[in-house]
Formats: sequence, structure tokens, C-alpha cells
Amino acid sequence: MSTPLTVLSDDEQLFRDSCRSFAEDRIKPLVHKMDEEAKLDKGIIPELFDLGLMGIHIPEDLGGASGSFFMSVLAVEEISRVDASFGVFIDVQNTLVNNAIMRWANDDQKKNYLPRLARDLVGAYALSEAGSGSDAFALACRAADRGDHFILNGRKLWITNALEAGVFIVFANLNPDEGYKGITAFLVESDFPGFAVGKKEDKLGIRASSTCELILEDCRVPKGNVLGEPGKGYKIAIETLNEGRIGIGAQMVGIAQGSWEHGAAYAKERKAFGKPLSDFQAIQFQLAETATQIEAARLMVYNAARLKDAKQDFLKEAAMQSISRRR
Ligand SMILES: Cc1cc2nc3c(=O)[nH]c(=O)nc-3n(C[C@H](O)[C@H](O)[C@H](O)COP(=O)(O)OP(=O)(O)OC[C@H]3O[C@@H](n4cnc5c(N)ncnc54)[C@H](O)[C@@H]3O)c2cc1C
Repeated sequence: MSTPLTVLSDDEQLFRDSCRSFAEDRIKPLVHKMDEEAKLDKGIIPELFDLGLMGIHIPEDLGGASGSFFMSVLAVEEISRVDASFGVFIDVQNTLVNNAIMRWANDDQKKNYLPRLARDLVGAYALSEAGSGSDAFALACRAADRGDHFILNGRKLWITNALEAGVFIVFANLNPDEGYKGITAFLVESDFPGFAVGKKEDKLGIRASSTCELILEDCRVPKGNVLGEPGKGYKIAIETLNEGRIGIGAQMVGIAQGSWEHGAAYAKERKAFGKPLSDFQAIQFQLAETATQIEAARLMVYNAARLKDAKQDFLKEAAMQSISRRR
């Protein structure tokens, strides 16, 4: 018998409940302060690692929790319901960085990075630049082969987790004559010579999440730190984003659910004309309409994630859920 999309297995249910309790008990009391100070509370980060939320679908023999991609989606939704900044923090780690390394890294790179990413290493994904956002292949960051190492030069912009990360997947063009087929992905550690984190954006939303510029000035990257093959960066970038898009959908569903719950609670608490706002049918219609939209978006996100876990085509569904979340 087929299982309805929103029915969780025992493991998924247990996992979602533990994410929810952690978000409510540990993160919620800090949200206002973190937003005001535009800074993540550093004390929460080791707890996220201890709970296994930074390596959800990394295999157990590499130090992870051996969960599914769908479980990453559940975690992102639950954390975002309470705090969108920590929501995007774990989202980038799981659905972009860990995901790309699990799929494209060689065995040595997997053994080197995945256990650390599950234990205490924060990751970031550095594709965008000032002149290259939606048009990602127009990136101006350059790489040069210097025999036993590469030299990277250029700037990246709006990089999530930049302040907390110890490893960055950086996309640079190694052979501009080949156009986008020169784009190569590099694993760059924050203490590599020539690497620096620049200005942090002062944002209107997800203020506690760090979104920064990266500066690469003759940044020296060991030969063994190409992720996948040279010239395959465009494929890695696009295919990782196709999957990461599902995580962004989960963030939006979590944020919408959290907002809805605040609104519904307030409508019950606030009285006007002698009764709670929630007794007025105009308010009930609004709550019903938004609850329906959130449930529709959740179904699309869950379906895309479950299709990916089932190794079935999910591109169209991932793109559709990303359109629906803008509504
Ligand atoms: C909070 C935040 C965190 C981020 N984190 C990361 C990160 O971790 N790593 C990373 O690499 N990047 C990150 N980014 C960058 C993000 O990926 C880019 O903002 C995104 O790719 C859009 O690029 P852009 O901002 O340059 O907008 P543009 O590409 O310049 O788009 C501007 C407008 O034009 C529209 N547009 C673009 N192309 C078309 C088209 N063909 N037809 C019609 N309309 C079009 C867009 O919809 C948009 O409204 C982050 C951005 C933000 C805001």
C-alpha cells in the first residue's frame, strides 16, 4: 500500500520531534537577541553537531547519521519554523556542502572532509559573484594551474555561513577559453593562504545568518582539492543547486508555518468588539487560506525530497516547489 506524503515513518517522526524540541527549547529563547545583534549564538553550533543535524545524510561509517535527504528537509523545516537563520545554517551544510561532497568527492576527500563536517566543521557554498547570480556561469573568479597547486583569484558575494565555515566549495574558471566548461569546483579551507572573508551584509531578514563577501588573492589550493574533475564545476554547481532548491523550499515552509502559528495564536488572544479576532469569519477565511497554501507547498517539498531519495527524477518538482514558495 502506498504511504501518504505527510505520513512519517517511526524514525522520521522521532527525528522531527527531536528537531522540534531542540528548536523550541534551545533556539527560541535566543531568536530575538540573535536577530537584533545579527549574529548566530555560537553556543548552539556544537549542539547542532552533537544532535547529528550537521551531517544528517552523511553515511555512518564516515561519522554521519545515515539519514535520508528527506530527513534533512524535515530538520530544515522544523528549525526554520522557529529561526530561519539557523534553518539556512543547517540547510547549506546538509543540502549543498555535504551533498556535493558525497556525490562528487573522491575517496580521500570524502574521508578527509565528511567526518569533520559531521563532527565540527561548518561548510559554505561559494558560487555567486557581484556580476554573476542567476547567470551563474558568467563568474569572473579565475583559477590557474601552478604544477603542484592552483592559484585562485577573484571575489564571491552573499556567501551564507562564511563567518562560521572552515571549508568552502569555491567555483572558479580554470580555462576561460572553454567558456562555462572551464568552471571548476575547489575545496578551499579558511586558513589557506590568500583566502579571506570580507564584508558581511546587513540584511532585513535572516539577519543572524552570515552572508559575506569572500576575497581570493593568489589563494593557494592544493592539487588534491579539486572537487570532481577540472571543467566539471558547472555540472556540480547546477546539479547541487537542483537538490539544494528543495532545502530552500523546506526553509520557506518552516518560516510560513511559524508565522502562521504566531498569527493564529494572536487572533485567539486579541479581542475586538467583545470577542477574539479568531471568531470573525473574515479572519477565519484568511487563516484557512494561508494554512491551505502552506500545506500545498509542504506537499510539493516533501514530494520532491522523497523523489530524490527514491532516485527518481525530481527536477521538475524541485523547480515547481521553488516557484510555489514565492507565492
Ligand atoms: C540571503 C542570501 C544568501 C545567499 N547565499 C548564497 C550562498 O551561500 N552561496 C552563493 O553562491 N550565493 C548565495 N546567494 C546569492 C544568490 O544565489 C543570488 O542572489 C541569486 O543567484 C540571484 O542572483 P542576483 O542576486 O545577482 O540577482 P540577478 O541574477 O541579478 O537577478 C535580479 C532579478 O532579475 C531576475 N532575473 C534573472 N534572470 C532572469 C531571466 N532570465 N528572466 C527574467 N528575470 C530574470 C531575477 O528573478 C531577479 O528578480 C545568497 C543570496 C542571498 C540574498
